[in-house]
Amino acid sequence: MSRRMMLAGNWKMNKTISEAINLAVRLKYSCNSVNDRDIVLCPPYTSLKPVAETVKDSSIEVGAQNMHHQLSGPYTGEVSPEMITDAGADWVIIGHSERRQHFSEDNQLLHEKLATAAREEIKVIFCVGETEQQRDEGKVAEVLTSQLKETLSGLDHPDFVELVIAYEPVWAIGTGNTATPEQANQAHQLLRQVLADIFTAEIAGQIRILYGGSVKPHNAAQLLGQSDIDGALVGGASLAADDFTAIVKFDTEENISIVDF
Ligand code: PEP
Repeated sequence: MSRRMMLAGNWKMNKTISEAINLAVRLKYSCNSVNDRDIVLCPPYTSLKPVAETVKDSSIEVGAQNMHHQLSGPYTGEVSPEMITDAGADWVIIGHSERRQHFSEDNQLLHEKLATAAREEIKVIFCVGETEQQRDEGKVAEVLTSQLKETLSGLDHPDFVELVIAYEPVWAIGTGNTATPEQANQAHQLLRQVLADIFTAEIAGQIRILYGGSVKPHNAAQLLGQSDIDGALVGGASLAADDFTAIVKFDTEENISIVDF
């Protein structure tokens, strides 16, 4: 089963509007020859529309980093599904570990968000991953299984425009401690097995599973060369045009030339 490679950049709480436009312009030019893999940029809410407008005549797509599960209402400070699509987002990241950790997002809430994204026809990057302690205690399989089963059960895969899973071991995010290619691939195989239990083996074979956690230009090729790793969700290294471009073009000979703006 060949799955199209996907590289997504999670800019987190970084970049003003002008900085975001500048980065998007640089990536639009540096990645304009890339047509065999998908590129998704996930800026903060305030830069969704400017970034979407910047890349609209390219193959780069835009995603939000979160959204509320209700369509509208008295939820001060929150942003609805319609607001993000209106701003130009085709994708949304759901369940990032920073949201689970700092904003107490649990599997019940994430199930609601996934259901809403499916109903509102927003493509999803759904993040799962174990903490260091859970890995040390030998609970990787248990944690990953419950993170998928408790959130996706009750949802039909055809309900989603697209569902992408991101395996992001919490201990590897923003730490420089990357999972080894073998550790990551093993986790991806486990996730695919759980997806087969929830949906079907055929569907599980089609779902892209990204790796996230300190992906950098120097380790991208090894990680992305694994059989069950279908791309990367990149945090820190997606904030610099040359680093993210190098990751996007991880196995090409092409020279990376960044246009200065
Ligand atoms: C992330 O935030 O999704 C991430 C993978 O971050 P980093 O690449 O900085 O580890």
